[in-house]
Amino acid sequence: MRNSAGALEIGGVDCRDLVARYQSPIYVLDEADARSRARGFRDAYESAGAATVYYAAKAFLATAVAKWVTEAGLGIDVASGGELEVVLRAGVPGDQILMHGNNKSMAEIELALTAGVGRIVVDSFDEIVRLADAAGRLGIVQQVLVRVTVGVEAHTHEFIATAHEDQKFGLSVASGDAAEAVRRIAKLPALAFAGLHSHLGSQIFDAAGFNEAAARVAAFTRSLRDEQGVIVRELNLGGGMGIAYVDGDDPLDVAEMARQICSVVRAECDQAGIETPELAFEPGRAIIGPAGVTIYEVGTVKPIELDDGIVRTYISVDGGMSDNIRTALYGAQYSVVLASRLSAGEPMLSRVVGKHCESGDIVVRDTWLPADVVPGDLLAVAATGAYCRSMSSNYNYLPRPAVIAAHAGNTAVVLRRETTEDLLALDPGA
Ligand SMILES: *Cc1c(COP(=O)(O)O)cnc(C)c1O
Repeated sequence: MRNSAGALEIGGVDCRDLVARYQSPIYVLDEADARSRARGFRDAYESAGAATVYYAAKAFLATAVAKWVTEAGLGIDVASGGELEVVLRAGVPGDQILMHGNNKSMAEIELALTAGVGRIVVDSFDEIVRLADAAGRLGIVQQVLVRVTVGVEAHTHEFIATAHEDQKFGLSVASGDAAEAVRRIAKLPALAFAGLHSHLGSQIFDAAGFNEAAARVAAFTRSLRDEQGVIVRELNLGGGMGIAYVDGDDPLDVAEMARQICSVVRAECDQAGIETPELAFEPGRAIIGPAGVTIYEVGTVKPIELDDGIVRTYISVDGGMSDNIRTALYGAQYSVVLASRLSAGEPMLSRVVGKHCESGDIVVRDTWLPADVVPGDLLAVAATGAYCRSMSSNYNYLPRPAVIAAHAGNTAVVLRRETTEDLLALDPGA
């Protein structure tokens, strides 16, 4: 919202004060918003009949966020030893943690086993052997899920169903690899088969993709029962619930999405003649994405006349592809506003770009900003809470921005700003 001075406020804190205190650029998280989205997911999926909701840590992770989501009743899914360390440091009990990864190292597997991670999702035949060896050595019986690919991939409004999936994740149901993985796990005393995992994709706006996936998973679950006498007790359907980045993005309401997905799965299980397993989900983006805003300071304003006489104004900010790679990587779209003041300026065709040595270093490709934007103004880019800090880099030796939580007019450091000294400390010759 805007305050009486016309400046954007996040969690009750004026963006100009945030920059004065913590420097620009800066990621700001509205703590109340993140917490309420986490609770909203828990409530919605619980009401729809799901047993567990895990927060997908890869969207953004720090100990503060691990505490927010676990206080809201969520578990956490991690995909590396580093993410697991953060979650453990936050004091999250092992049994509330689930571990992913298509190439977990032996050290990561051992850390997960000794931390008592509740579920490990196995992704390959190699890993089954590695995991069983480690668990056997440690005298642990580890509950595992098998990540399956069912040939359905969902992206925003569409889903693509294919017989064959040409990608690195999971074990294919169609090829028989998934059934073979379950057979091998059943023979290993150090592993206990708990169920299946199927993650469809990202930025999913409706339940259509889940229809096809649920039918395929249900049929596979039945074949495991009939052919191997194995019961799928848990079915984890992953994350991917979409959010609005720009006008026109219109994802289903959280509760409605929960209701539709869970009822589709129950209907498919009924039809396949099996009991519906306990359901689990792993939203990441939809919890932390909308809670985050990036504030940048404008450094230069450069109008460029295009061939057809149209002028596009390049507005350079003090960050870019190092703090938000999504535009360059996936052509992601974002909304941006002039944040430090109100303006009566005419809308001007603009492109918000970073300060890196790449012409593809674009934050917001096409937008309209007031024609009176000048160096020193602050811009705010919305919905950057997910997959921006977590995918950030030090390209061009830029220190990564701080992540600040704002709540009821107060601020707290979630991750401090990196310094050039931090980066130089890695170089023994510097
Ligand atoms: C990325 C991922 C998620 C979270 O996806 P969102 O789009 O952030 O909800 C959940 N589960 C798995 C296995 C993932 O790879």
